[in-house]
Amino acid sequence: MVVGDVTTAVDVLILGAGPAGYAAAIRAAQLGRKVTLVEPGPVGGTCLNRGCIPLKALLEASERYARTGIEELAQFGISAETVSFDWSKMQAWKQGVIERLSNGVRRLLTGNQVELVQGIGWFLNEKEVRVEGEHGSLRFAFEHCVIATGAGAPLLPTDVLTPEQALKLDTLPEQVTIAGNDYIALELATALARLGVTVELAVPGERLLPEVEPAAVRLLQTGLRKLKIRVKTGVVVEQLKARPLVVCKEVRPATAGLRLDVAGVQVDEQGGIKVDSMMRTSNPAVYAVGDCLGSHALAAVALKQGKVAAEVLSGMRVQFAPMVVPQVVQGWPELAAAGLTAEAATRAGYQVKTGRFPLAANGRALTLGADLGAVFVVADAEHETVLGGTVVGPRAADLLASLTLAIEMGATLTDLTEILYAHPALSEAVLEGAENALARAIHVLNKP
Ligand SMILES: Cc1cc2nc3c(=O)[nH]c(=O)nc-3n(C[C@H](O)[C@H](O)[C@H](O)COP(=O)(O)OP(=O)(O)OC[C@H]3O[C@@H](n4cnc5c(N)ncnc54)[C@H](O)[C@@H]3O)c2cc1C
Repeated sequence: MVVGDVTTAVDVLILGAGPAGYAAAIRAAQLGRKVTLVEPGPVGGTCLNRGCIPLKALLEASERYARTGIEELAQFGISAETVSFDWSKMQAWKQGVIERLSNGVRRLLTGNQVELVQGIGWFLNEKEVRVEGEHGSLRFAFEHCVIATGAGAPLLPTDVLTPEQALKLDTLPEQVTIAGNDYIALELATALARLGVTVELAVPGERLLPEVEPAAVRLLQTGLRKLKIRVKTGVVVEQLKARPLVVCKEVRPATAGLRLDVAGVQVDEQGGIKVDSMMRTSNPAVYAVGDCLGSHALAAVALKQGKVAAEVLSGMRVQFAPMVVPQVVQGWPELAAAGLTAEAATRAGYQVKTGRFPLAANGRALTLGADLGAVFVVADAEHETVLGGTVVGPRAADLLASLTLAIEMGATLTDLTEILYAHPALSEAVLEGAENALARAIHVLNKP
């Protein structure tokens, strides 16, 4: 590596090694490009180090603790004297998961001959980037550049916690107020309540998760009540006096320090980088992916956009154009949704046909001791094309995949019912949800 102001010519330069950046790096390398990946922190970005993975690890640990509670076990005929947990050991386990995944990404980068440069980068002009880091100050001239710098937490008062900070508290508080109306607020509330923290969920807006099928939200609310989480709607977050307070708010694109103006890369009013469906910016040599666009703030989207950018800059004609973006709340019960709700489909002008199948009628759910949940299917009444689906219950996010595939492929309700589903399995609830829309589910009374 050249130190000083000598310019090093590189093929594909990627700024940021979160899911968007590392996916772009690996995919570009697979396509024969020589990739230099710049990152000041650990690989994996927000998702792996501070967001999705730590939160899911904590959800899992807290679920195991709650599920081995004495009353929970008693229903299976099992008795236990005491069940307890050690918060610092739980944190250490969570950190172990993060490190395993981060090392795995590092190995994949090395295996794909991606050069990782530790440092922070910004543009010098339309074709060059400066990187400052452990190798000093470096100057790169790129053939193509992908910006994948993610997003940062919004500005909050100093005594207010972000969800990332709440995930690594040294000690568990006795009580906490969590403000927000998204999956992060609900998941954090779930994990902490299961560990015995008294949680108040302060929801801005009149309805919890207004975009989600109302009957599915009601199931989630039943779960929140069981966990003794107090939900208060219509809250003005800025007026909340309660402490400790965690505020889950929209993140802001991390683009301020990139000097995008000198690179000829246009941004919107919030600083989100403007791209077309092929992830191209206003500079023909520069692409942008992930949270720095300021649109979805989901790792699932970031990973896909990273791959699309790598393919486009390698000469393939592909687009980022999903019909639906799955939404998941890994609460208790878990909720996952894709596509239109019945209400949204009607608003969009469809005559709708809906199906519903409760987990209480699914054999596998009962053997799991998890009957709080249901599958909701929405279809266009005329062609019976699947328009949307919502799953509430164990592993809802995994079960949603077949409904997402059905929507993307323009499958009909009959398509969903023609394949064989393993038995006994939770996936049979998806089958019977579709069958119920066709008024022919076996394990539930169908509406006439
Ligand atoms: C608590 C929490 C839970 C979440 N849970 C989920 C979930 O369950 N599912 C889901 O899909 N999403 C989830 N997310 C969102 C997800 O983490 C982000 O959408 C995802 O990480 C975005 O990926 P990215 O690569 O665009 O950005 P990031 O992951 O933020 O990565 C950006 C990287 O760029 C680096 N960088 C910044 N500036 C520069 C620079 N100038 N030069 C070089 N590098 C730079 C940063 O250090 C960082 O590593 C969660 C987020 C949070 C906070």
